[in-house]
Amino acid sequence: MRMNSKAQKMELNDGHSIPVLGFGTYATEEHLKIKSMDSTKVAIDVGFRHIDCSHFYQNEEEVGKAIRSKIEDGTVKREDIFYTSKLWSTSHRPELVRPSLESSLRKLNLDYVDLYLIHFPVSLKAMEKCKDAGLTKSIGVSNFNRRQLEMILNKPGLKYKPVCNQVECHLYLNQSKLLDYCKMNDIILVAYGALGTQRYKTCVNEDTPVLLDDPVLCAIARKYKRTPALIALRYQLQRGIVVLVKSFNEERIRENMQALDFQLASDHMKILDGLNRNFRYFPADMFNAHPSFPFFDEY
Ligand code: NDP
Repeated sequence: MRMNSKAQKMELNDGHSIPVLGFGTYATEEHLKIKSMDSTKVAIDVGFRHIDCSHFYQNEEEVGKAIRSKIEDGTVKREDIFYTSKLWSTSHRPELVRPSLESSLRKLNLDYVDLYLIHFPVSLKAMEKCKDAGLTKSIGVSNFNRRQLEMILNKPGLKYKPVCNQVECHLYLNQSKLLDYCKMNDIILVAYGALGTQRYKTCVNEDTPVLLDDPVLCAIARKYKRTPALIALRYQLQRGIVVLVKSFNEERIRENMQALDFQLASDHMKILDGLNRNFRYFPADMFNAHPSFPFFDEY
């Protein structure tokens, strides 16, 4: 049965809408980048309509080819796909913002992206101009803490609020305070690392806990006859979060779409809330000398 993710969208504060389940495309290892093309095609075939990528991932060309081939073979139209790209930290100077988006568009061979994010905290001004020029439908931020969101929202002359804040969010870092703040301000929280990330080998040591092995999560998974991964994804969806999930394995890409097909009872949601331990898999320590480093604040 072909799953239809089209109905499962959330409205953004600028009137556009975002599919609640997104396909992540980041691969840590160079030789895996090539797999992002085939995996993105499979993801579109099984019903993913939201694709998350970035200049930094160095695979926008492959992901763009996959999207265009699925448009050419009639599986989808351009307007069915919600594509997110991100501005990397080496292009924060205002005069570099639009050229950076245009370079992503050239690699993708697309006319526009649906959402353009600031990958790590800086100002939004030059991003607003990209929206005005029609190169992106929506603009948002990533890895902003509450104080940084507040600074943007209180900025005199702010033309467009960010539509979302994409942050690490999973059972061990459930971001409940940041989520409340985002909801209060009509900003959607987009979760990355919802399965406990790829436990980035360059950033974390091998002793970090494996989220999908958590005994409480596994017990709930057995009750629902679903995998721990599906429970971890479903948990986020029921909190009103848009959730990303990366897989370059056909069977798991198919499985992950099933997160849209079932409900967790509220007592199980509460038990899952209790697993939070404010643990970051991706502390981004290499950026911690930067004045805008976001992760010193509580949230
Ligand atoms: P995820 O939490 O999505 O975990 C991905 C890992 O889980 C992969 O190793 C994958 O392996 C495995 N996996 C996928 N599905 C299943 C399943 N059903 N059962 C068991 N294992 C599974 O991690 P990511 O860190 O990739 O985050 C998702 C996306 O979020 C990224 O790809 C990227 O698009 C975005 N992101 C954004 C960041 C930002 O700063 N804005 C930072 C990090 C990520 P396999 O491929 O073999 O299935």
